[in-house]
Amino acid sequence: MKQIAVISGKGGTGKTVVAGAFAALAKNKIMVDCDVDAADLHLLLHPVLKERHEFRSGQTAVIDNKLCEKCGKCISVCRSGAIGSDCSIERFFCEGCALCSYICPYGAIRMEENIAGEWFVSDTEYGPFVHAKLGIAEENSGKLVAQIRKAGKELAEKQALDYVIIDGPPGIGCPVIASLSGVDCALIVTEPTLSGLHDAKRVIEVAEHFNIGVKLAINKYDLNLTIAETIETFCGENNIPVAGRIPFDEAVVKALVEGKTIVEYAECAAANEVRKVWETIK
Ligand code: SF4
Ligand code: SF4
Repeated sequence: MKQIAVISGKGGTGKTVVAGAFAALAKNKIMVDCDVDAADLHLLLHPVLKERHEFRSGQTAVIDNKLCEKCGKCISVCRSGAIGSDCSIERFFCEGCALCSYICPYGAIRMEENIAGEWFVSDTEYGPFVHAKLGIAEENSGKLVAQIRKAGKELAEKQALDYVIIDGPPGIGCPVIASLSGVDCALIVTEPTLSGLHDAKRVIEVAEHFNIGVKLAINKYDLNLTIAETIETFCGENNIPVAGRIPFDEAVVKALVEGKTIVEYAECAAANEVRKVWETIK
């Protein structure tokens, strides 16, 4: 069983378009949407929910008003300004340090675990799909990514699947590292812009740090042939195989509007090139 992560370094490069196409092209696989801060692969895969799980992470202080004597000690120690003058806690400001619960002379403050989001196991016409939704203003998306990666891998092993295909988050932070750990190959989808190249370089460094084999695809390469060439030169100098040059194609937008993967929507130039990318990756 091979694990393949589709990442980008920056948002908006077309990573999910490629991952969605892989869902249609790959046989005997599970899809995992690790972009938990802004999940959108479900818009193409149309999942039918089978399992729903709470994601618990971090803690928040809660004051028991029956025990609180309004002494104000907790207000003075909270460095986050999370406790108002009326001794009530603004949960979005609370950092969960628990100091207030230690100093309250009346034992009126307890720490409660946060429900920071949900993760799901679904059926799709493309096979099983593990995805998640991080709660508003919640942190620890790296931990949630690790959770769904684990669930996806276990399901793949149980069902003897050949691939785990991961739609990764943008950037180079904790959720990206959690998406990359232990994968066999990372496909970087970039675009021919200076920021696309800059952010692709950063995520390549991250992947290489973890000894992960990297391939790169340039999406909408024909919108700026000069920068596309710069990207290819960079790849050549750094032994990074270019798995595909996907042309700009209005059919991609039309496919997204209809909630379809590009390879199912139309026989077009972009779909043909994405097919070639999958042949290279698999
Ligand atoms: S320290 Fe305890 S008793 Fe004092 S105001 Fe805070 S919660 Fe109430
Ligand atoms: S847990 Fe820490 S951040 Fe939260 S209210 Fe108490 S002292 Fe403030």
